[in-house]
Amino acid sequence: MLYDLIVIGSGPAGQKAALQGARSGKRVAIIDDHPMLGGGCLHWGTMPSKSFRESVYRWSLSSRGSLGRDTDDAALTEKKATLPEMKRLLQRKNRVVEKDSQVVRENLEKCGVRIYHGRATLQTAHDVEIRSESGTKKISGAYIVVATGARPVSGPQVPVDGKLVLDSDSILSLKKVPKTMVVLGAGIIGCEYASMFSTAGTKVFLVDRRHEILASVDREIVDQLQGRFEQQDMEIVLEAEATKIEKQPGGKGVVVHLNTGRQIKAEVVLVAQGRRGNTENMGLEALGISPDERGLLKVDEHFRTVQTNIYAVGDVIGSPALASTSMEQGRIAACHAFRVEDGREMYRMPELYPYGIYTIPEISMVGRTEEDCRADRTVDLVIGRAHYRDVGRGQIVGDRWGLLKILFDRKTHKILGVHIIGDSAADLIHIGQAVMQLGGDLYYFINSVFNYPTLAEAYKLAAMDALNQIRKTS
Ligand SMILES: Cc1cc2nc3c(=O)[nH]c(=O)nc-3n(C[C@H](O)[C@H](O)[C@H](O)COP(=O)(O)OP(=O)(O)OC[C@H]3O[C@@H](n4cnc5c(N)ncnc54)[C@H](O)[C@@H]3O)c2cc1C
Repeated sequence: MLYDLIVIGSGPAGQKAALQGARSGKRVAIIDDHPMLGGGCLHWGTMPSKSFRESVYRWSLSSRGSLGRDTDDAALTEKKATLPEMKRLLQRKNRVVEKDSQVVRENLEKCGVRIYHGRATLQTAHDVEIRSESGTKKISGAYIVVATGARPVSGPQVPVDGKLVLDSDSILSLKKVPKTMVVLGAGIIGCEYASMFSTAGTKVFLVDRRHEILASVDREIVDQLQGRFEQQDMEIVLEAEATKIEKQPGGKGVVVHLNTGRQIKAEVVLVAQGRRGNTENMGLEALGISPDERGLLKVDEHFRTVQTNIYAVGDVIGSPALASTSMEQGRIAACHAFRVEDGREMYRMPELYPYGIYTIPEISMVGRTEEDCRADRTVDLVIGRAHYRDVGRGQIVGDRWGLLKILFDRKTHKILGVHIIGDSAADLIHIGQAVMQLGGDLYYFINSVFNYPTLAEAYKLAAMDALNQIRKTS
């Protein structure tokens, strides 16, 4: 079969590339080696973890959860007598994964995308072989998009067995919520799962070799998160690395040996120490496309590899490795291949995009951090802050930890960054993102009417806080 576009991988990056190609009137095929469509994002990444989070969060608000009792300090620190049932916490995830996979298939089919299941290998820059249990097929395409994603890695000293030592692909196969857990790696995935299990009542030890958690996030926001973690009885162990995991006889937990000499006993370990691109045995090297030591592919600003008809998008090209950015990369690659006119012919990722971190409480940010601005001598920084407890909706939802902080340039009043921790942070951030992107400034918030009561009102309060400071010093 001859196609205009062949997409390898049906995660967010591949889906959007395929849909854009089909909507541009092209003949498109998509290939995935998983029996269900949706990619790692749907089957073992974003969607399972966020569905699990939702269940844990809702459970925690119930009478048996620690957040359900007017969120006072005592309730947070109180030892939980009963842990929620893992089976029940996973019901939402199972429903979401099944339903969403159908939605992905329907969307692709509706647009006329031909779906193949099997493992894809590139024979030439235009020919793809698909191997599956039912045999081998060959298809050809003018353009190819590699969207094969990434998978977790673990060092030899922390071998993952999927039972006592788990990674983000296997953590939700746990049969019960453990009483104790060591999480190795305090990046986004490690912090998210540490916070979910901690909220469910697990005693979590969060271990990282660095001196801080979530290194790229605004420190004030991380301090808030860390305060919340510690109040929930999570122990954060920094500047420490696991040298060995000793399994207890009879599968009764593990002892994690750290290079500091400390030993931590726990029921299970979650290893969240990085990911590697899925690029092995795909025939890429023979075409001059050489993955780096982490299996990642190098691309230009339009997501082309050195073989210019072969694009690579999503986790397989590395940072930022988010579902959100992967989707846009996929769409842009297909637009570039077929020179789809979008009025601007940008075919590039926008410089400004948000990050969402689904810890409990959630974090979101766009633009520069306070640390970054302070290190820049050309910036005259003023920071407006609003606590959720100071807006009506914050009181209603009972989020007394929430904080929204906006970084402004004192002279131009332009927004340099927005950082939020608290309920709905990942949704709220888009207000700041839109105002930034459209060139608005502090007065947008001052002169706008916000729905009441909403958390969004915190933008206005934060802007007023900044304006007061500007007026005092001018
Ligand atoms: C635990 C966890 C939580 C996350 N949470 C978030 C979040 O909250 N928000 C967010 O934006 N991002 C999140 N991410 C990141 C997000 O899941 C990824 O960025 C996203 O899945 C990348 O999409 P992709 O299309 O590049 O690859 P994937 O979604 O990984 O899909 C790749 C697909 O290609 C298939 N494939 C691989 N090789 C071949 C081959 N040779 N032939 C055929 N098929 C092949 C794979 O089986 C897979 O189905 C999370 C990730 C993890 C692990």
